Amino acid sequence: MPYIREIVTDGHPTLRKVAKKVDPKEISDPLFQQLIDDMFETMYAAPGVGLAAPQVNVSKRLFVMDVQDDEHQPAVVINPKIELAEEEIEMTEGCLSVPGYVGEITRYKHVAITGLDRHGHKIRLEGEGLFAQCLQHEIDHLNGVLYIDKAKNIRKPETEEEQEIADAAAAEATPTSPV
Ligand code: ZN
Repeated sequence: MPYIREIVTDGHPTLRKVAKKVDPKEISDPLFQQLIDDMFETMYAAPGVGLAAPQVNVSKRLFVMDVQDDEHQPAVVINPKIELAEEEIEMTEGCLSVPGYVGEITRYKHVAITGLDRHGHKIRLEGEGLFAQCLQHEIDHLNGVLYIDKAKNIRKPETEEEQEIADAAAAEATPTSPV
């Protein structure tokens, strides 16, 4: 049974490490599969739209995400690599590991990544808006980077929409404008 793991917050050393590449042979290990299930459980409980392994104190290169729209399925990505990044835009962002704050960050509007799924099969994900923002945010976590390192105007939320981003009630990372 999956269980909810503790989400570590800014100041925890694991968030600042470059996470280790996952050995593809490890993916079929029941403990690794349990980690994936637990990460989904933890993300949905938060609630958030994305969660990287370092946020549950596991320094490995994988993340889960579910932006909950009609276009994209829930996904787990192991050893992700950015293949394409186009057109910079500014977005409002929050993070489950930096609770209670939002900031403005420059992200690529359109990205494509490759990696492995939970069966060790190669996958490619491509998208725009919140989906692309979330991919970049989660990959940053795997490199020990938090959005607050790059963001401007980091603040307590001032509007209801910003409050939702900070609480991750709507999303871990939400674009400023609808997408
Ligand atoms: Zn985050």
